[in-house]
Amino acid sequence: MSEDTSTRRTHMADAPLLEVREITKFFPIKSGLFGRATNSVRAVDGISFNVLRRETLGIVGESGCGKSTTARLIVDLISPDKGDILFDARRLGTDLTLNELRRNVQMVFQDSYASLNPRLTIEDTIAFGPIIHGVPREYARRLAWELLSKVGLDPKRFAGRYPHEISGGQRQRVNIARALAVKPQIIILDESVSALDKSVEAQVLNLLLDLKKELDLTYIFISHDLNVVKFMADRVIVMYLGEIVEVGPVESIYAETAHPYSRSLLASMPSMDPDHRSEHVALAGDPPNPIIPPSGCRFHPRCPIAIPKCKTEKPLLHIQKTRGHLAACHLTAQQQETF
Ligand code: SF4
Repeated sequence: MSEDTSTRRTHMADAPLLEVREITKFFPIKSGLFGRATNSVRAVDGISFNVLRRETLGIVGESGCGKSTTARLIVDLISPDKGDILFDARRLGTDLTLNELRRNVQMVFQDSYASLNPRLTIEDTIAFGPIIHGVPREYARRLAWELLSKVGLDPKRFAGRYPHEISGGQRQRVNIARALAVKPQIIILDESVSALDKSVEAQVLNLLLDLKKELDLTYIFISHDLNVVKFMADRVIVMYLGEIVEVGPVESIYAETAHPYSRSLLASMPSMDPDHRSEHVALAGDPPNPIIPPSGCRFHPRCPIAIPKCKTEKPLLHIQKTRGHLAACHLTAQQQETF
């Protein structure tokens, strides 16, 4: 464990701040003259996980694995077909309102420009949320200036500008300030640094780490970039075709990988060391059709060590060597090594 990671983890309390229970979302596919639903895309299929107070939970997987849908389900930007969201032990729809949930759980998206209203100045953009929540206009403006300084933008230079007048990295800082303006406890970062240049990306990641420490924040960090997730996360969830296939502490996921899909993802991860860049594409083929996912283990058509049972029986998440590390595979780590 790196020094940074160990410091971050000692600050984590055990009680979950957010609980996702058996959440499911199938998107209907309509066809024919009357637009009847004839099939559905199984975007998220009955997943459950907790987010601990003050941790950064990384979610990784190929495009289409359900990670961004999961983020939208958490804040009810799309409604789940089944399942529950609990924030601080209160269940959405019973003792927790959507307003309370959204004030406490904010999102920062990948597209920094599309997330901002082009007709609002940066100051008005940041002040908007607090004003909606009843904060007096003058106080909300002062808060916007404070937050601009906090995210590294000089308010005197930036408060009066419009989104098209600033760079992508600056816009993402504004989006972070806007998320912070309603004093959330959790921020979901959905590929939030993916569109930035590497040098700007590093600056924004360091800003996020500083803000987390200063404001006691909890992050859900969604990314296809495994190097970035390794740098940011305390725990990691690996998703494949709408399901969780592995979850655990970041060091254990990267050093004692227990699921063949996670291993393939890690093997195709570009090395940070240019002398050790691998040209090897470890993961063969595209993910299967999410409308008719494979039977048994959904990874079996691409798995290099599949056995007959994999086609018929769905593997459940079970405990690995390290505490809190679970993987859904019929084969133990020892059995996998013999292939
Ligand atoms: Fe591969 Fe079978 Fe394990 Fe699925 S259950 S990952 S197909 S070995």
